[in-house]
Amino acid sequence: MAPPRRTDPNYMDVDSDSDISMLGGDEVRARGKGKGKATDKRKKDKGKGKAKDQAYTWEASYTRSWDMVQEDETAAAIRRTIIRHLVLLLDLSAAMMDRDMRPTRFDLSLQYAREFVVEWFDQNPLGQIGVVGMRSGIGERIGEMSGNPQDVLKSLSDRTKLEPAGEPSLQNAIEMARSSMGHLPTHSSREILIIFGSLTTCDPGNIHDTLDACVKNRIRISVVALAAEMKICRDMCDKTGGQFGVAMNEGHFKDLLFELVPPPAQRTVARAGGGGGANPAADLMMMGFPTRLPDSSPPSLCVCHSDMKSEGFLCPRCMAKVCDVPTDCDICGLMIPYQAV
Ligand SMILES: [Zn+2]
Ligand SMILES: [Zn+2]
Repeated sequence: MAPPRRTDPNYMDVDSDSDISMLGGDEVRARGKGKGKATDKRKKDKGKGKAKDQAYTWEASYTRSWDMVQEDETAAAIRRTIIRHLVLLLDLSAAMMDRDMRPTRFDLSLQYAREFVVEWFDQNPLGQIGVVGMRSGIGERIGEMSGNPQDVLKSLSDRTKLEPAGEPSLQNAIEMARSSMGHLPTHSSREILIIFGSLTTCDPGNIHDTLDACVKNRIRISVVALAAEMKICRDMCDKTGGQFGVAMNEGHFKDLLFELVPPPAQRTVARAGGGGGANPAADLMMMGFPTRLPDSSPPSLCVCHSDMKSEGFLCPRCMAKVCDVPTDCDICGLMIPYQAV
């Protein structure tokens, strides 16, 4: 069937939306509020004038919705990362004691952060999360990058250890987060999620240098701001492909945070390089299943903590002993997933 053309007076009448002028040929598509009306008019039109072309009204009014969906050209080349590495960067500056969110920004952030971690691992079972805090002008390592939700939750459990103080330093904290992701293989995502309650940052150098380094390292920065929008925060998210949002209330805060649970869509390299929308071949990832040492094995040093103990896992490639899986081998970098026995 021939869809109404732009010369159709009825059609123009109901939808002079600028969207339409962008779509040429037969792919005329009505969007938004104009859609319903346009379809009605079309139906009427078919019924009267074009009766001989379209014998059956049910044919005429039948809209092949799937033909009308116009996908983004790049849609075919979007992928989602399954191996994610995220540093949760918590503002622990004095501004977090503000009570505009109940009971305080700090307490609410901790509570949401824990819920976020649980949900995140549920949807990203091969991912890892590290926690960095910022207070008193420095970045503080609160939890090492770990694939074990319990480790991450533990680092967020002791409220007294995380007591807010002083000024935040975005630059120091981001540098610390960045350094913990430097060794990661390219197939994994590198993400920093900042929960930020302040309106200032107290930095030792130029934060734009840090931002440039993050862009270069392909680290995606997302910010959930609790106070208001700061230009540098917005810039960081825009330039690194992350998300920025200002929480308006408690519920909105949680929404913004949980929007970041599903893996971000990634434009593939081929597309960025002008690959013309072809779906490039998938990259292969190397991973090796570990050997679990029995508790009765002779004690030996682990490579992660240099602790002497019996239990642990052996990297199948270099035979290094690590305490916990999933992890990346500290010696050879091989990804060692969790193996349910
Ligand atoms: Zn260890
Ligand atoms: Zn190894």
